[in-house]
Amino acid sequence: MIGKTLYLNGCFQPLLEARISPLDRGFLFGDGVYEIIPVYSRRPFRAEQHLERFALSLAGIRIEDPHSRHEWLDIIERLIAEATWQDQGVYLQVTRGVDRKRDHPFPAKVVPTVFGMTMPLVTPTAAVFEQGVSAITASDTRWSRCDLKSTALLANVLLRQESADGGHAETILLRDGYLTEGSTSSVLMVQQGTLIAPPASNFILPGITCEVVLELACQHNLPVSHRPITEAELRSADEILLTSSTKEVLAVTQLDGKPVGNGQVGSVTRQLQTWYQGFKSTVMRHGRK
Ligand code: PLP
Repeated sequence: MIGKTLYLNGCFQPLLEARISPLDRGFLFGDGVYEIIPVYSRRPFRAEQHLERFALSLAGIRIEDPHSRHEWLDIIERLIAEATWQDQGVYLQVTRGVDRKRDHPFPAKVVPTVFGMTMPLVTPTAAVFEQGVSAITASDTRWSRCDLKSTALLANVLLRQESADGGHAETILLRDGYLTEGSTSSVLMVQQGTLIAPPASNFILPGITCEVVLELACQHNLPVSHRPITEAELRSADEILLTSSTKEVLAVTQLDGKPVGNGQVGSVTRQLQTWYQGFKSTVMRHGRK
């Protein structure tokens, strides 16, 4: 389900009237980037950080940002206002635009296609948070600019389908024997009370939810370490957790059919979930954060 009104190239218009050319390079090449901003009680969460990541993705693929920060915020506010849901996921996408032919090099003159829509934000149910989820591992077959939020998601789609086929919630990716992230989420682990996050690199999308979780951990003096995580460490972790705008903070209690730790949601993950929900409530009360 998506909102009845969307934004396309300067116009707010009904979903059913929106048209995009098949020669759009987003359609032909996946030549574009996107962002998803969670909205709670009609208030965007961490909008500045999402827009900063969006700007980095645009710069990373050499598309000039078509809007100022202020204009993006206005588009987001209008999409939220037009939709009926309290909690939403605002999706923004910019592609390089429409060419007159199919040719890999950038056209000399091209106007980016700017698209925005909003969807209901669907987060895990209380029962899923309570029980945790199962995940599988797979070799990270993505390209080497995973730090850019590109619309070219074929590898992520295929990797996520591997876990979906078996009824699992996520595919956790390993590259050269080290954890990178999930096909649709950031991955953290806990060992002997320390929250461990793989360091930022071109092989990992800098997750905004993960950033919030790490900030909360630091504020509450939970030991945090940023270092590479080997496959063996991942497999012997006390706790594994996924973070994303839609998954929030979600425990992985089974990995490749084996229990993680004691097979139940661990105490550190529970604590992080509580802090995260508390932080969200603050945002709902006081506005943008
Ligand atoms: N990593 C990947 C590959 C993702 O697709 C996502 C979310 O879509 C994330 C990490 C988490 O990012 P965020 O917390 O900003 O939603």
